[in-house]
Amino acid sequence: MKNHGFKDECGVFAVFGHPEAANLVYLGLHALQHRGQESAGIVSSNGQRLLEEKGMGQVGRVFKRKNLLRLKGTHAIGHVRYSTAGKSALVNAQPFRIDSCKGEIAIGHNGNLVNAEALRKSLEAAGSIFRSSSDTEVVLHLIAKAPQSDLEAAIVHALKQVEGAYSLVFITPDRIIGVRDPRGFRPMALGKAGDAHVLTSESCALDLIDGAFVREVEPGEMVVISAQGVKSYRPFPAAPPSQCIFEHVYFSRPDSFVFGRSVHEVRKALGRELAREQPVEADVVVPIPDSGVYAALGFAEGSGLPLEFGFVRNHYIGRTFIEPRQSIRHFGVKLKLNPVKRLLEGRRVVLIDDSIVRGTTSRKIVAMVRAAGAREVHMRISCAPTVGPCYYGVDTPRRKDLIAANHTVEEIRRFIEADSLGYLSLEGMARAVGGAKGFCTSCYTNEYPVPIPDEAAVRVAAPPRLR
Ligand code: SF4
Repeated sequence: MKNHGFKDECGVFAVFGHPEAANLVYLGLHALQHRGQESAGIVSSNGQRLLEEKGMGQVGRVFKRKNLLRLKGTHAIGHVRYSTAGKSALVNAQPFRIDSCKGEIAIGHNGNLVNAEALRKSLEAAGSIFRSSSDTEVVLHLIAKAPQSDLEAAIVHALKQVEGAYSLVFITPDRIIGVRDPRGFRPMALGKAGDAHVLTSESCALDLIDGAFVREVEPGEMVVISAQGVKSYRPFPAAPPSQCIFEHVYFSRPDSFVFGRSVHEVRKALGRELAREQPVEADVVVPIPDSGVYAALGFAEGSGLPLEFGFVRNHYIGRTFIEPRQSIRHFGVKLKLNPVKRLLEGRRVVLIDDSIVRGTTSRKIVAMVRAAGAREVHMRISCAPTVGPCYYGVDTPRRKDLIAANHTVEEIRRFIEADSLGYLSLEGMARAVGGAKGFCTSCYTNEYPVPIPDEAAVRVAAPPRLR
């Protein structure tokens, strides 16, 4: 469950050289559903033309047997979306497909381009007409306008103009292409399913199609997969890698292998480090499901305290954070989680979660645990305080709404009404991932590796008042 204000980004999946390419993409998107539930889409190639199906909602809702049957061909790409730029609407559902002077091409994007707005303005001034409000469409316009007639060269030309985070998949009538930005903010892996080649945001999607993990697409790498096989290029100037550490803390599935590490192992290591740095006298460790579970396993291991599943999660109500109406959010926590009173009554409880964003959800959970009879409630967080927004593909609230951007740990503890509160340090996070080098930690440090437009203006936002 998402118990806070972080929203997922997007997921991409692509298959080349399989008679049931669209069906495999459909399955792959199911495995990436945690990365976005607002819309889903697949574009396949029948060898001459690109065929497209997309819609709003989760994969199982968007695709029915009938529209999957329409998606003929041996290669296909797919996308699940949570909007990090652009509104939630069908017009923004990806993949985007165009027919240009370079031929037919479709794109799926995970990430966020920080200079999309500026590029869009200059493209519009030169006569381009945009169909969506998504940053991704800018890339297609830049490709269409590129002076190169060769498509791969045009893609490189376009991507050299954009800044920010992108893990992209493209499809044309005869090939698929995967690209990771030079800093590698978002993950992407290369796999095989029989003789077919696969590109996926996370390796967990390969398991579902009985595929095998081959390797990660590297930061700054462009992989072109066609009848001629897999070709790899490094067309961009090298940059220091900034892989998103929050993929390990929260976003990626624990059964994925991301940035050279098992997510499950890193998440447990975060919990062990947390137990070492923020010990507490207590009777029981309780994860806040689902995101706190693996860190809680590590915390229990590191502290020697027993772990109990002190909450029952209702799996059948969807994820309310994607519900835009405030009226639903108010009782979202109770709708999703119920404490197991017998496990909590009279006990000193350590709650483990992966972050506190606004603080309001944590406060409700602490109150629920107390109401269930807990004697003490201690909150432990398996990462550092979130002090800045993400501009690289994670939809965080604005800085003024981030409680840790404007308040001390003690003020936050008082707000959530916990007996104690402890965060993991940045150093502890670095130890858990095997060294901070190569990771983006901007939302914990306010140091952004790719310059952010108007960042100076965001920094001076007035602190909110705590109730
Ligand atoms: Fe990840 Fe935070 Fe960096 Fe965004 S700012 S890419 S969430 S580490």
